[in-house]
Amino acid sequence: MTRAPALFIGHGSPMNAIEDTPSARGWADVARRFERPHSIVMVSAHWVTDGVRIMSNAQPRTIHDFGRGFPQELFDQQYPAPGSPELANATVEKLTAFGAQLDESWGLDHGTWSVLKHMYPEADIPVVQVSLDARRSAAEHYAVGRELAALRDDNVLVMASGNIVHNLPAFFRAPSPEPQPWVASFDALIAGAVANDHEKIVNYTQQSDAAIAAPDWEHFTPVLYTLAAQREGEAPALFNRHYMPGISMTSLAFGLPA
Ligand code: ZN
Repeated sequence: MTRAPALFIGHGSPMNAIEDTPSARGWADVARRFERPHSIVMVSAHWVTDGVRIMSNAQPRTIHDFGRGFPQELFDQQYPAPGSPELANATVEKLTAFGAQLDESWGLDHGTWSVLKHMYPEADIPVVQVSLDARRSAAEHYAVGRELAALRDDNVLVMASGNIVHNLPAFFRAPSPEPQPWVASFDALIAGAVANDHEKIVNYTQQSDAAIAAPDWEHFTPVLYTLAAQREGEAPALFNRHYMPGISMTSLAFGLPA
């Protein structure tokens, strides 16, 4: 069986779902670099719960979880990928130590479908979302990710979606279209540690400029799941090093074929 990669995607604005942006093109490109996965386990910044929850719907709905200021075209988008109760069950079993439970209240949020729409426009690969447990520390999120990593061996794409730099007030109030210096510097600090210093990233709140660059734990935390899925000897592939005020779109893969 093929071992699927582990992937972190910087998702940015929901508008990437319907616009031909450099970042969206990067998502489509990376999907062409590895074999079609059997299914996808996705950790999105936009599903935060008390306790670890595993989406078990056979046919998840498309959730339009963003403000009213977006165009109707975005609200009209559907991503009708199937779920997989079977994979949800297998995932819950892997996470029993964390008290994980099946959940039918969610669906696919925009952290998931705005990206997958470009990677797999046919929406024919089953997707199971795993929530971010708000009660857990960064180290515990990393530990949950370690358990999910084994799914890769069954050609399950272990995927996470957030942003390494995510400060929306700094995005909206930016005095110019130029990114603030801390966007690139904090992003580079994290990117420089993905290969072999995960501890530094787990302790990201101690790093310089973290308070301004990564104030939203739920957007930063998904990258910990991808790091935790790295196998020995796998070099990181960094892509979409795109910066804007308050946001970095940097994305990361482990286990891409040479
Ligand atoms: Zn987001």
